[in-house]
This record gives sequence, structure tokens and C-alpha cells, in this order.
Amino acid sequence: MTDIAIRTNNLCKYYGAVHAVDNVSVEIPTGAIVGLVGKNGAGKTTLIRMLTGLTFPTSGTFELLPGVERDDSTVAAIVERPSMFTGMTAKENMTHQCLLIGAEATPEYINHTLELVGLDHTNNQKVKNFSLGMRQRLAIAMTLVAKPKLLLLDEPTNGLDPQGIHDMRELFLSVNRELGVTLVVSSHILSELAKFATDFIIMDKGKVIKTFSADELSNVNKKRIRLSVND
Ligand code: ATP
Repeated sequence: MTDIAIRTNNLCKYYGAVHAVDNVSVEIPTGAIVGLVGKNGAGKTTLIRMLTGLTFPTSGTFELLPGVERDDSTVAAIVERPSMFTGMTAKENMTHQCLLIGAEATPEYINHTLELVGLDHTNNQKVKNFSLGMRQRLAIAMTLVAKPKLLLLDEPTNGLDPQGIHDMRELFLSVNRELGVTLVVSSHILSELAKFATDFIIMDKGKVIKTFSADELSNVNKKRIRLSVND
């Protein structure tokens, strides 16, 4: 097992004069939950799109799970709107996804995965009647059937209410700890990612401007009192 889940070397994506991703060189350790933070247009989606093969780099290279024997299912991602059949139940969507990718589709396995994402009680409810949070959790369950080692999620908590964000946070931690999946989760909001991420990459205008660990972040945030005395 390698220690590195993702390594990028001077990765660039230019759209004409727009440097969407500009010379990004980062290493993401195996087992981490990495928060990819940046405001609109910082380059988060473009970076994830390159890593998932949805777009090609202008220059530079990257490696995913170097040294690990891979097949198509080792890396999974949700970029933009997850696709699912809204006229079907969660279970039916899961069964369909298993058949699509040739994964195990036993009722026990599907129930267990739906339990992990908190959707085991939805029975005959169709996805069109799900909340946004429930759909997002089903989307993650559908990526898990491939048993990925690396999961990339582009702004998965966008538009969710506080309960939905809380549920997603718990789910990220379960997927990471129970299934041993390395996660990359993008968001605009550092404070939200700070509740579960182990490492952070801050992007601005296509560049990585800072990387730090959760420990480093909490050290910086420690409350201090500075006293100036004349003796
Ligand atoms: P957001 O949080 O709004 O999704 P982001 O950090 O994901 O932002 P990107 O979507 O990666 O940022 O966009 C980075 C820059 O690249 C932006 O200036 C964007 O307009 C530009 N860009 C992205 N995709 C394309 C494209 N297909 N053609 C032209 N420009 C693009």
C-alpha cells in the first residue's frame, strides 16, 4: 500500500487566457480526508475534473494511487449533479448501479450500503420524493458499490440545510474510517470542512496558495491572550 493517494506535478489547465488551474503540485496522503477550499472560480472543479479524466491537463502530470493495482472502480467521483433515476427507489437505483458496473448486487450488500448512508428506511419511496440531502447520500452510496479507494466529491454539501450538512459530515467520516477510503471534498467554506477534514488545500485563481493539516489549523485557532506590561 502506497502512502500517497494523489500526486500532481505542475498541473495546469488553461482555457485561453484563463488559468483555471495553474502549476499545482500537491501530495495527498492515503487515508486522508482532504478539504479543497476556494472561492468561486478558484479552480477546484477543474482540478477534480482533471483528476477524474473528465478533462485533460494543458500541461503537467498527476498520479492516482501510485503503485496500487487499479481498475476502473478504484477511483470514484461525484462532479456536478449526480445522476440517478428519480422514478426508482433507492434500492432500485443501487441494484441498477451494481448491474451497470458489474458489482455484487445481493440484497444484504445493498441494504448494508444504504444503512451506511442512512437510507435503509426509505423502502418504496421514490427518489423524486427525496430531499436534496437524501439524494446526495444516495449518490455517495452509488459510488461505494464500486468499492473505491479514492473518492472525489465536488461541493457535495452545496444547497444542503444544517441537518443535511451534518449528515454528510458523519457519512464522510464513516466512509473514511469504516471503508478506508481517501476522500477529497471541495467547498467554499473552510469552517465547514474543518469539522472533519484531516488536511487542507487552499486554492485561489488557479493556484494552491496554502496547504496545512487539521492540527496546524487548530494550533493557529487556539485562543490566546497577549498582555503588554511595562515591567
Ligand atoms: P465554483 O466554486 O464556482 O465551482 P471552482 O473553484 O470550482 O468554482 P472552476 O469551476 O474550476 O472553479 O473554474 C476556474 C476558472 O476556470 C473560472 O474562471 C472558470 O470560469 C474557468 N473555466 C472553468 N471551466 C471552463 C471552461 N470549460 N471553459 C472556459 N473557462 C472555464
